[in-house]
Amino acid sequence: NNTVYLFGGQADHSDPRQKDKAVVGGKGANLAEMASIGLPVPPGFTITTEECVRYLKEGANFSDDLRENVAKALNHIENAVGKRFGDAGDPLLVSVRSGARVSMPGMMDTVLNLGLNDATVEGLAATSGHARFAWDSYRRFIQMYADVVLGLEHGLFEEALEIAKEDKGFFSDTEMDSEDWQALVGEYKAIVERELGRPFPQDVTEQLWGAIAAVFDSWDSERARVYRRLNAIPGDWGTAVNVQAMVFGNMGDTSATGVAFTRDPSTGERAYYGEWLVNAQGEDVVAGIRTPQYLTRTAREAAGAQAPSMEEAMPDAYAELARVFDLLETHYRDMQDIEFTVQQGKLWMLQTRSGKRTAKAALRMAVDMVGEGLIDEETAILRVDPMALDQLLHPTLDPHAARDVLARGLPASPGAASGAIVLDADTAETRAGRGESVILVRVETSPEDIHGMHAAKGILTARGGMTSHAAVVARGMGRPCVSGASAVSIDLKTRTLRIGHRELTEGDTITLDGASGEVMAGEVPTIEPELAGDFGVLMDWADKHRRMAVRTNAETPADCRTARQFGAEGIGLCRTEHMFFDAGRISAVRAMILADDEAGRRAALARLLPEQRSDFADIFRAMAGLPCTIRLLDPPLHEFMPTRDEDFEGLASDLGVGVDHLKRRAAELHEFNPMLGHRGCRLGITFPEIYEMQARAIFEAACAVTGEGGEPVVPEVMIPLVATRKELAILRALVDRVAGEVFGEQGLTLDYLVGTMIELPRAALMAGEIAEEARFFSFGTNDLTQTALGVSRDDAGRFLGAYVDQGIYARDPFVSLDIDGVGQLVELAAERGRATRADIKLGICGEHGGDPESIAFCEKVGLDYVSASPYRVPIAKLAAAQAAL
Ligand code: ADP
Ligand code: MG
Ligand code: MG
Repeated sequence: NNTVYLFGGQADHSDPRQKDKAVVGGKGANLAEMASIGLPVPPGFTITTEECVRYLKEGANFSDDLRENVAKALNHIENAVGKRFGDAGDPLLVSVRSGARVSMPGMMDTVLNLGLNDATVEGLAATSGHARFAWDSYRRFIQMYADVVLGLEHGLFEEALEIAKEDKGFFSDTEMDSEDWQALVGEYKAIVERELGRPFPQDVTEQLWGAIAAVFDSWDSERARVYRRLNAIPGDWGTAVNVQAMVFGNMGDTSATGVAFTRDPSTGERAYYGEWLVNAQGEDVVAGIRTPQYLTRTAREAAGAQAPSMEEAMPDAYAELARVFDLLETHYRDMQDIEFTVQQGKLWMLQTRSGKRTAKAALRMAVDMVGEGLIDEETAILRVDPMALDQLLHPTLDPHAARDVLARGLPASPGAASGAIVLDADTAETRAGRGESVILVRVETSPEDIHGMHAAKGILTARGGMTSHAAVVARGMGRPCVSGASAVSIDLKTRTLRIGHRELTEGDTITLDGASGEVMAGEVPTIEPELAGDFGVLMDWADKHRRMAVRTNAETPADCRTARQFGAEGIGLCRTEHMFFDAGRISAVRAMILADDEAGRRAALARLLPEQRSDFADIFRAMAGLPCTIRLLDPPLHEFMPTRDEDFEGLASDLGVGVDHLKRRAAELHEFNPMLGHRGCRLGITFPEIYEMQARAIFEAACAVTGEGGEPVVPEVMIPLVATRKELAILRALVDRVAGEVFGEQGLTLDYLVGTMIELPRAALMAGEIAEEARFFSFGTNDLTQTALGVSRDDAGRFLGAYVDQGIYARDPFVSLDIDGVGQLVELAAERGRATRADIKLGICGEHGGDPESIAFCEKVGLDYVSASPYRVPIAKLAAAQAAL
């Protein structure tokens, strides 16, 4: 296998390894590819990533083989260009560029103009006829080389340049003439010698190997390691090195350099987009030393800019560039991000790659390119990152608006919202009731805050992670949420909060950007999402190509409508506990919980029955005959318990009992570990009257709505937290009995299913037996993760970050399913369930149902559907389609 690959000139690009980014890196592969299709690429060579790995393993040693091949490869460049490296009369100069398999900030910066020294600079000046250009290039080279290879602070050099300009009374670099640059070169060399105790290397071969070593070493730099860890890039890939003949954009007014996209990367519009600078080199465009000019006349005019566009100033080079854009797009069948240089009127291509783009642009390009016949539907589906759709489904902040950022937290739930600060849920509800926009700001939220979260336009918490209560509920409701903004401290006594050093009062307006985690002062204008158009087209394609159905987790008619608007095909999880928190009901719920006996409980439940019935009826109506899985009561009862004295007092007088008595009952209900305590089906086993009431409410509502005409309702009654067949058998019998009673009373018999959640390891293991009682399984992967990992979701925030940082789990297992571990339980339960009951319906309803990687796993295991919160339905559909392709 070659250690070095040539490109450009007369090079042979036929070795398939030269197309392989794993071998030659992304930059190297694309340079060779461009050269092979006849585009003007300065000749060069690529040292493979394998050599980098070997070099690092062998203690920073170059192999003889490599030295020999680099020498030969240098010859290739020399012959192609017709100049010799180190030739004092007419020197070849090169750039040394790193290029890993994926683009990776943190790697070594490029060194340009390598091969200059005190002798060759004179040759360059003479042969080019531009002394100023030659000395400018030399000073650039010394500064870059000193910075990236010799490890000197670039500030030292910038300071020297500033002083030189000041001495002359210059404002800009362009005023420096040849002698000025030459003088500066003298100073730069003096700085190097002073700092390093040895002179700047004059030997060009030493320069070259120094730069190659620096690229290799940068793979193991701290910056690169951190980046790799954060982006899950393996440490053993290594980076390639590209050595390439220099072309000069700084050779006067017929020379230029620029970066461009073949389409607009922020809107996706089919229009060339880019920036360029006359008489400039390399990164001047991005470095912001001078303000770059527009590429096209249209863009310049739209911006009202004076400086001519490239289209106007260099029409021939521009026409050539436009031709190259089209060639590259047809070749790569994707939008390209390009670097180019014009040397005295001639265009040279220095880089191309598939360009990064906003979600909006990704969508538009994918749809447009199918229309243009550039790609097929399948490719279009695969092109759009499902998670990026999230940005499109919510109102977003106007990117042009000014932002006064107060603090930053976690981007817990996307979307943007502005409103008045409110510090508790009741205030949120009252003020929202008056038509105000409010942002609920809490240290953290709990189920008691639900009504306030619903009322608020957005939620901000000082504590809690991406899977905190606030984050999960906010995502479910489609409310923007910033969680864990630790700079926020709340004083409930004075009703004020401090964010960093700023003091705010309840009622002050703030804006949240749930996509970036930013908290801003005042109101920042937003723009509304567009659901028709390209989005609709892509969704249609996804529907056509996916196998799994996509349901939603919804518990209010409003959620149901949102989800259906996004194309949900049923409800995968309707939690019933949130209905219990409603203002009018909570006292009946509390009365039920605190009742001394069954009779007391039944009396309270009788008050709840009509309420639940109408909840379910509303949901059935909203879902119009689509399947609805309704889960019977799941959380530990103490979550409904009053905490404030006035609540106890009110309740006591309602019930005609003493406050002390109530408080004692509440204390009796205390649990040490409620998540593993008296909850789920255990409530149904011990207080069957609760599940009876809920089953009755479900069947009565189903009969009523079916009676209204339209599609018959087929309820799916789901029993939570089952561990044994027997539990399910008992509760199924209960549900069947109630169903029979209701059907008898109503004179109407409906189809319905009883099934269970699989959310305990024992249930997964015993799935074969449990399936005897269950018509469906829904994998409750939140609890299954919690119980399989032995990690409490509510407490994980304290340590899970460190676990992810250290790579113990690649991603937060509550966000992306732990496929290796928890995944086995899912797979095994699916297999065993199907072995018992071939037509058992299998779905997933945890947070993971909206996570693309987890969805791909569900496809692999053959689940029938995934269920996601309403705003995640489109994401799930796209991810399901991608998984099926
Ligand atoms: P990065 O990956 O950071 O973009 P590059 O290696 O692409 O680094 O190079 C940085 C800049 O130098 C780019 O503007 C590129 O076009 C320019 N450049 C690199 N090699 C050459 C060369 N041989 N001739 C002229 N400009 C070059
Ligand atoms: Mg580049
Ligand atoms: Mg659960």
